[in-house]
Formats: sequence, C-alpha cells, structure tokens
Amino acid sequence: MTITGIPSRPDLRSTLRATIRDAVLDAAAVLLPVSCAGCSAPDRSLCAGCVQALAPEVRRHTVRGVAVWSALDYDDVPRTVLLAYKDGGRVDAARALAGALRPALAAAAGSRWRAVVPVLIPSTRAAWRRRGYHPTGMVLARTRALAPPLWHALRLTRQTADQAALGSAQRADNRAGSMVASRRLSGRRCVIVDDIVTSGATIAEAARAIGAAGGTVGGAATLARTPRRRR
Ligand SMILES: [Zn+2]
Repeated sequence: MTITGIPSRPDLRSTLRATIRDAVLDAAAVLLPVSCAGCSAPDRSLCAGCVQALAPEVRRHTVRGVAVWSALDYDDVPRTVLLAYKDGGRVDAARALAGALRPALAAAAGSRWRAVVPVLIPSTRAAWRRRGYHPTGMVLARTRALAPPLWHALRLTRQTADQAALGSAQRADNRAGSMVASRRLSGRRCVIVDDIVTSGATIAEAARAIGAAGGTVGGAATLARTPRRRR
C-alpha cells in the first residue's frame, strides 16, 4: 500500500527503467537513417505536416459504460504513425505520440489529476516476445503526466487473441474475464490507458478488473479511436 501519488519503490524503478530505455532507443533512432514515420519523407523522424496531423483533438465518448477521452482519429497519418511505432520499429515516434496522449490523460483525470493513477492494459506474451517492450507504456512514460503509473497493476489470466482480427462480439468474448489486478486497488482512482479504442471491450474488461480489486475507474485515455464508419 502506498500513499496516493507517491510511487512505491518498484513503481519508481519501473518508471526510471522506462525512461532510460526510451533515451537509449531515441539515441539509436538518431544514429540510423530516418524517414518520416507518417509519410516517408526523407531525413525527418516526423515531418512538419505529420506533426501537425498528430496535433491532439481530445474528444470524449462512452464505451460500455466507461468515459473515454481519445486524442486522435485512428485514420490517415495517426494510423500510419501508430502502426509504424507499434510494429515497424519506429520507437522514435514515442515523443510525438506522448504529446498527443498527454491532454487526453489530463482530460480523463479531470481536476483531481494529482490523485489519479494511470493503469495500462497488459500485453500478451506473444506481443512481448514480438516487441520486447510495451508500446503504450513507453508513450505513457514520456507523458510525465499525473501520478507515476501503477506499472503492471493488471495482468492477463489467459492469453487472448489479437483484437484487431476480431469482430465486435468476438472482441468482447475474447476479453471477458481475461484480466485481474496484481495488487489491491482499494482507495485508488485509476485512469485506464490504451493505444486505440475500437469496440471498448478491452477497456470494459480492465474497468471490471480494477473494480473487482477495489479501485475506482475515473475514465480512460487513448491515443486514438477507430472512427465509427471505416472507409
Ligand atoms: Zn510526414
């Protein structure tokens, strides 16, 4: 049990580790030849036009009873950059994505932001193996917003399929009962943090798991939301 807003030692160590790892990855990106992660223009990690396209416009919506604040529409440049960041090795986009996530986090936390702790959606083992890091965790570490995150507050009780391949009903089945809190969350006011919200099944399951551990969910913050009607 820790006093709200003051990280326990493991939390602090995880935050420091994430910060150091980010610095190393950024340094590596600088040494390698780069092109824009959004449009492939040469010699820029992100060109001015794509930086502009990542300017957050935080919008609130409700999915499965949870208020969600999303910074970007998962379309066009934000979609290309997020895909490049998550699965194309473009970790250098973390800084720009953190700039988009920060206001969504602040909006989700509201006026009690000092007392609100971010909680991440846990990665599957397959995702960990593939990437070696938690993409949303790396962005979150860079936002330096709110209280230090409760790293690893949730864990998976079973390995779930990749949501991207599933329809809405299947997404809910895939996630239902798949998470559990790895610590007591009594008295904790949490904001769930995820990269993309589509059906809301993942966020709803995280909210259920947090509630089952005694925590309160103030809302969720995501980098992007999938537009309701896909082209
Ligand atoms: Zn560009």
